[in-house]
Amino acid sequence: MNVLVINCGSSSLKYQLINSESEEVLAKGLCERIGIDGSAIVHQPAGKDKITTEADMPNHTAAVQLVIEKLTDPEVGVIKTLDEIDAVGHRIVHGGEKFATSVVLDDEVLAVIEQCNDLAPLHNPANLIGINSCREIMPNVPMVGVFDTAFHQTMPKKAYLYGLPLSYYENYKVRRYGFHGTSHDFVSKRAAQILGKDIKDLKIIVCHLGNGASVSAVKYGESVDTSMGLTPLEGLIMGTRSGDLDPAIITFIAEKEGISAEEVINICNKKSGVLGLSGGVSSDFRDLAEAKAQGNEAAKTALETYAYRVAKYIGAYAAAMNGVDVIVFTAGVGENNAEARAEIGDYLGYLGTNIDSEKNKLRGEEVILSDEGAKVTTMVIPTNEELAIARETVRLVRA
Ligand code: ADP
Repeated sequence: MNVLVINCGSSSLKYQLINSESEEVLAKGLCERIGIDGSAIVHQPAGKDKITTEADMPNHTAAVQLVIEKLTDPEVGVIKTLDEIDAVGHRIVHGGEKFATSVVLDDEVLAVIEQCNDLAPLHNPANLIGINSCREIMPNVPMVGVFDTAFHQTMPKKAYLYGLPLSYYENYKVRRYGFHGTSHDFVSKRAAQILGKDIKDLKIIVCHLGNGASVSAVKYGESVDTSMGLTPLEGLIMGTRSGDLDPAIITFIAEKEGISAEEVINICNKKSGVLGLSGGVSSDFRDLAEAKAQGNEAAKTALETYAYRVAKYIGAYAAAMNGVDVIVFTAGVGENNAEARAEIGDYLGYLGTNIDSEKNKLRGEEVILSDEGAKVTTMVIPTNEELAIARETVRLVRA
């Protein structure tokens, strides 16, 4: 089965065509600046160079049309006709409390997803536009929605409720939802598989450290807590997001700077995190490491503060699960940044992680960092959200 995986943002659309039997990526790419001047598609067939084509994309339907043209192109394409796409899997950011698993998309389900829009006003409407564009162009192809929030729907009330008047939860569904669920699910299952153990016997802490970052506590295969909240702003210090704050800071800054609370939230999302802490050096960990090596104190402090926050969450989740068997690092920083892992690892000795500093130098591959016999096994597992979405799509289409 060939599954087209779509991740649609407000002005971008990422895609991968995956053969579900071999789990090979046949082609992947990205449409940028949809609806803006200067739009372009970057298409990469497996094993070949990327091709960038500037093309007019006034809307997402035009972008999907262009993706299909590239996939079926006689030169750079990988399939002959549209008929060779058997299913489409869509990443959807917020499923609220309504979706605890992936779903086959039809009119009824789409109407329910729309009801979750106010929980993720920046993301969900864009996801829906992508879905509708694909349905327009491929009306007979089955489509599946995979939610970032679904995996965390197993959290108990004590983990998802905030210490606010209960009516806010009852009336507006204000609660912790968590994100990156596809990744936390994929990586925790893979950890059990690599260790040859049943996930139902394991307490796993997954550190998904990318541009956006979150930690989750996966107890016996179910998410029981996670660091992101109602929105992806809570929890860890991220590339540009602040993570946890005293909420009183919002109005305090608004008053001092003469800006609205909404503007402060925007700063918390886009200008904070390691970018803000480093005094604007970068949100990219490679740049920060370079700046630190050149003696930039703010960059050094940003990296220290980042690692400290991750370590605190690991401690909290070890407590939440009354123990931990496995700690996994994943996503851009978790997979590749040995320095960040080492800095976090320095706090974990008390758990009995015994991280081998030589093994920790490896990047971008599955590796067990702990010495044999360590009380807690620390691992790196590259995440693959697209493959997880493709697997879910096949599972639902076959069911
Ligand atoms: P996103 O949340 O956008 O998917 P990623 O998971 O791709 O983000 O992570 C991006 C982060 O990963 C960047 O901060 C980048 O610096 C870091 N990263 C990627 N590759 C490396 C590398 N080789 N060494 C250090 N950091 C890396």
